[in-house]
Amino acid sequence: MVNRAVFLDRDGVLNANIERDGKQVAPTSLAEFRLLPGVVDAVTKLKAAGFTIVVVTNQPDVATGRTPLATVEAMHDLLREKMPLDAIKACFHTDKDNCACRKPLPGMLLEAARELDIDLGASFMVGDRWRDTQAGLAAGCRTIFVDYGHFQEGPHQPDRTVRSLPEAVSFIIECA
Ligand SMILES: [Mg+2]
Ligand SMILES: [Zn+2]
Repeated sequence: MVNRAVFLDRDGVLNANIERDGKQVAPTSLAEFRLLPGVVDAVTKLKAAGFTIVVVTNQPDVATGRTPLATVEAMHDLLREKMPLDAIKACFHTDKDNCACRKPLPGMLLEAARELDIDLGASFMVGDRWRDTQAGLAAGCRTIFVDYGHFQEGPHQPDRTVRSLPEAVSFIIECA
């Protein structure tokens, strides 16, 4: 357990959510998949600071059939092309499936920690929903909430609230 990691939620952290029926939701096609400003630089900085970078994303649209698995994989190929990621972990279930991977459960973080020798207590989780920071807390990481005013924070306080991934990265590098 020697590596420090930053776990990144995907939608709303690396790429923009889209609006459907007045709600902020995950993009369902490659055409809707847009990186947010400054994220490539921000992730590159984290990597240069010595962090292992792991994306942990709930993608229930795969379980419900809204988004084909191949589309999600194409989005992840694009992320890997653009930025230095060590792993992408995705949960393709809904709450009904009772899996161990869907955030707020920490399954994806714990699996990555085993595979990549990650010291969870020296790691961070960044996300824009309470499910993300709750998963980070459950894994023993420090937690950063990216607040766009769309999503309510959860039942616990994140260690830090920011407005964007670049702002989160400045905080992480200050702490490190
Ligand atoms: Mg999100
Ligand atoms: Zn799952």
